[in-house]
Amino acid sequence: MTALTSQKTVQLPLWRQIQRQNFLRWDDLVEYLQLSSELRQKVLPKGRFPLNLPRRLAQKIQKNSINDPILRQFVPLQEEETLTDGYTLEPLQDPKFLQSKKLLHKYQGRALILTTSACAMHCRFCFRQNYSYETETIGFEDDLTYIAQETDLSEIILSGGDPLSLNDGQLQSLLQGLELIPHVKRVRFHTRFPIGIPERLDDSFLQVLEASSKQIVFIIHCNHPRELDSDVADALKRVQKLGIPVLNQTVLLKGVNDDEAILLELSESLVQAGVLPYYLHLHDLVQGTAHFLVSDERGKELVQYLHKHTSGYAVPRLVREVPGQPGKTLIL
Ligand SMILES: *Cc1c(COP(=O)(O)O)cnc(C)c1O
Ligand code: SF4
Repeated sequence: MTALTSQKTVQLPLWRQIQRQNFLRWDDLVEYLQLSSELRQKVLPKGRFPLNLPRRLAQKIQKNSINDPILRQFVPLQEEETLTDGYTLEPLQDPKFLQSKKLLHKYQGRALILTTSACAMHCRFCFRQNYSYETETIGFEDDLTYIAQETDLSEIILSGGDPLSLNDGQLQSLLQGLELIPHVKRVRFHTRFPIGIPERLDDSFLQVLEASSKQIVFIIHCNHPRELDSDVADALKRVQKLGIPVLNQTVLLKGVNDDEAILLELSESLVQAGVLPYYLHLHDLVQGTAHFLVSDERGKELVQYLHKHTSGYAVPRLVREVPGQPGKTLIL
């Protein structure tokens, strides 16, 4: 160290500090999970989609087990190397529907902004894991120009990646841009951040939400009841207190949640946290995810079971995305 080295450090928000502790390296993770040498061989040292796992979720994984529902969602396993017919890198053909560098307008009245490629965590089944995002453009001028011209767009969906990867200043300026477009009535967030790093929903972020005059809708992504805990529920409660509805979408995944009792517990826990189940997605056919496949028939059975065993509003709609369709395809 020389005397010239500045000691001034910029204080990162708490959530950024927590994010920096994510597991990114195979050796750190297999050590932490106390996997036997036999089980270690089933974990890919380098998946095509890099490992990225928040500590909070890693703590919920059972030690020395490869069948854990949290592990299966986030840890790259040898099964990803299997090539399967009918599975592709870009099953939804999203790039075809881009109207500007990062705006997808596929459905009537709604457009989706791929705000960033960064996520709080990397889910092995993600349908956007191979998407080549525009990373150079930082601002949203082009997207806002398009939205301003399309007067029948009443809802803008902030997705990604995860929109909560943006910092509050970026989110605020995006919301301020939308504020100036009168035909936009609602802004919807699609985020998995609260599950991995609920600290992201801090005072500063809540102020950004509060400053918007648009109706905001929050959709989180939770696949297993163990992802929910009291910190997550408390953070979501703060959002709900602003008059923002919070909904959840789940991806139906073999070995994770393709089970009556688990889905029932998930619905009940969500509702108990004031979060309403929205969609149960049949998984998209992304290469390397065939081991997650659950059949349509099994999906229907599971939803029918929920219908019999819980409140109507706790039953998600079973859907799949079919490229070229005017909306999600309702299976049940
Ligand atoms: C899923 C999706 C939406 C939203 O669809 P809803 O059925 O309203 O939830 C909008 N745009 C795109 C590109 C989508 O993939
Ligand atoms: S958080 Fe969402 S976008 Fe990010 S990897 Fe997971 S499923 Fe994909």
